[in-house]
Amino acid sequence: MTKTSTAQLEHPAIDLLYELLRKRSVTPDDAGCQDLMAARLERMGFVSETMQFGDVTNLWARRGETGPVLCFAGHTDVVPPGDVNEWSSDPFEPEIRAGQLYARGAADMKSGLAAMIIAIERFVADHPDHAGSLALLITSDEEGRARDGTLKVIEALSARNEKIDWCVLGEPSSQESLGDIVRIGRRGSLSGMLTVKGVQGHVAFPQFADNPIRRFAPLLAKLHEIVWDNGNDSFPPTSFQVVDIQSGIGAPNVTPPSLTARFNFRYSTEWDHERLQRKVHEVFDAHEIDYELKWHLSGKPFLTLPGKLINATSQAVTELTGNAPELSTGGGTSDGRFISPAGTDVVELGPINASIHKLDEHVSIEDVGRLTDMYQRIIELMLLD
Ligand SMILES: [Zn+2]
Repeated sequence: MTKTSTAQLEHPAIDLLYELLRKRSVTPDDAGCQDLMAARLERMGFVSETMQFGDVTNLWARRGETGPVLCFAGHTDVVPPGDVNEWSSDPFEPEIRAGQLYARGAADMKSGLAAMIIAIERFVADHPDHAGSLALLITSDEEGRARDGTLKVIEALSARNEKIDWCVLGEPSSQESLGDIVRIGRRGSLSGMLTVKGVQGHVAFPQFADNPIRRFAPLLAKLHEIVWDNGNDSFPPTSFQVVDIQSGIGAPNVTPPSLTARFNFRYSTEWDHERLQRKVHEVFDAHEIDYELKWHLSGKPFLTLPGKLINATSQAVTELTGNAPELSTGGGTSDGRFISPAGTDVVELGPINASIHKLDEHVSIEDVGRLTDMYQRIIELMLLD
């Protein structure tokens, strides 16, 4: 158990974090978080713009008119708390116990947002005439469909030729200790929605029916046997997971007419989605099976190459923790998939992710202060050199 000093409790990022956590911003409701952030940014000379798309609220704020543009990005929305009675304290009334701050969104990712704002405030106070521009891109739809959020903001910026050179995403990237992992890319995510067609029949007369479960079983085994790739220098191996199978009409003496299944690939740059789809169809077509397969691509893989942003992020983490971060492309998708294709270098650095989306989500209050210092150092290294 770590002792919490009063100095940490009085950290301005903790105060701001409290305010953000008290707002019930369950996807896609921003619940006023962005207004709060925009007000503070405007006081520092940022020009802020609310971009509303459908029921999603997005904030684009910028200080400076010239390039290069260093942008911090993130989301104000949180996943629902689940059964509130299962929480040790109210998920929307932050509480500190043993140096940890408990609330929904504490780690994913309102602590990242609070740290960004305070880091920027401190940097601007020290260097009001900095070179280039500082920007913030915040959405309220990262945990949901993610169609009217970061993707649309990037489209709007591209349409008016506004370019982000570097982006620091405040998603909870750390695993065991703050800054142990910095994400520099992500695998792609490709989902398949499968329907296997059969002929319903009496369970005692299988010769007059065609059981889709029986048809699918060997194919399912085959899909799990395949080693899709072994990854590469930058990416972990491609993974294949079945997430849902439905069949049966609810009677013990009837074989079902059809089966549906959903599966997902998290794929490395050894594949592109078209090639991966073709390979899957080849495997299917080698089996005697009548099927329909629909695809949904939710993100192509992306990778930030070594350069100034990765160097600055590594240096900031190393200076403040004594250890160089591991540069990783593991984990799920993030809004980095929408930011990177416009030619932007993207890194993700945020708090420990062990409790995200869980009951009793929490963040170390000491880490919130240290994350603020890391962000401030990154800004200095990017804009003062
Ligand atoms: Zn998140």
